[in-house]
Amino acid sequence: MATYHIETYGCTSNRGESREIERALRDGGHRPAPGPDEADVAILNTCTVVEKTERNMLRRAEELADETAELVITGCMALAQGEAFREAGIDAEVLHWDAVPEHVLNGECPTVTPDVDPVLDGVVGILPIARGCMSNCSYCITKFATGRVDSPSVEENVAKARALVHAGAKEIRVTGQDTGVYGWDTGERKLPELLDRICDIDGEFRVRLGMANPGGIHGIHEELADVFARNEKLYDFIHAPVQSGSDEVLEAMRRQHRVGKFREVVETFDDRLDEWTLSTDFIVGFPTETAEDHERSMELLREVRPEKINVTRFSKRPGTDAADMKGLGGTIKKERSKAMSELKMQVVGEAYGSMVGTEREVLVVEEGTADSVKCRDGAYRQVIIQRAGERGIEVGEFLDVEVTGHNTVYAFGEPV
Ligand code: SF4
Repeated sequence: MATYHIETYGCTSNRGESREIERALRDGGHRPAPGPDEADVAILNTCTVVEKTERNMLRRAEELADETAELVITGCMALAQGEAFREAGIDAEVLHWDAVPEHVLNGECPTVTPDVDPVLDGVVGILPIARGCMSNCSYCITKFATGRVDSPSVEENVAKARALVHAGAKEIRVTGQDTGVYGWDTGERKLPELLDRICDIDGEFRVRLGMANPGGIHGIHEELADVFARNEKLYDFIHAPVQSGSDEVLEAMRRQHRVGKFREVVETFDDRLDEWTLSTDFIVGFPTETAEDHERSMELLREVRPEKINVTRFSKRPGTDAADMKGLGGTIKKERSKAMSELKMQVVGEAYGSMVGTEREVLVVEEGTADSVKCRDGAYRQVIIQRAGERGIEVGEFLDVEVTGHNTVYAFGEPV
């Protein structure tokens, strides 16, 4: 559980996004702090209407970066001019607003509700397939609430997925603390079978596999990569949080994988799929992390070049074993997270840049701001189409686009 402080500037759309961020944070067990100086993380939701506003945003970001343990900047200015914060030397993570709650999780897995009921939100169906995990990470507080994995049967989950499709879902998000260990409690590793069965449901829709720890998918990674290769409905996307490039740190974190297993998973997907998205997370500044360990994480990031990266600065969660470890100084943690965030923006920017000029099919998933829509391509990369209402583009439709530009963490597309 983290404490947060959130500040919002600008239009009603920004305020709505801040409400969504807060709702997700509270659902994840986080709570508001009395002010930025007492928060584990401060979130600045920015606006960029006129030049004077930009100067104010930069000034406020500078103040918050000094006052708070960790700063996240989101909103219009973050997306349109994220470079401005970096050029001003502001130590902050610049994120799309829907990536903020995940970032604040501090490397822990997302919490799903106890009853694992599916939810339909617009054309997105959320399908929690199991609750709990098979790990005992030393920094994790989520585990206390969720316990050991408890997996409903494949039939039950397929029935829930079918109901979501019949109710209008175009994107089914298969979620859980650790989807990779689905079925372990029953003695069988059933994720590949479940994904195959969901993809067999009649209808035009896409399936996004949620967080799967490298330790959970290693061992079924070849079978899983084959499932991805044969099912067009599955977004070619996995979220496998490695957390560190150092085996010593992974051991201190009590992660179930080591760097070698993570590499094997990535290499297998590289072999089987032409274009796919690797999403991974790094915790920077874990108490035992040395300068060499940090450099190993940077090297791993340079080597595997994930298309989506979440960098979290370590913060202690009460009651966990890592909270009793002697921590690193705030300056070291800030320097390391700044270095990794800069590398991340370069790596992710190159991935989106390489999409420019290509054509691809996208699913329109939700409305964006200012008459835009947010779409996902087959590798779950975000593509924004502007003037959507004017062109009669509707949420839930599939269409072909040409990628005409990019903005580091998403691309712009024009219907063809
Ligand atoms: S896998 Fe680790 S971080 Fe995730 S819920 Fe389990 S113990 Fe927590």
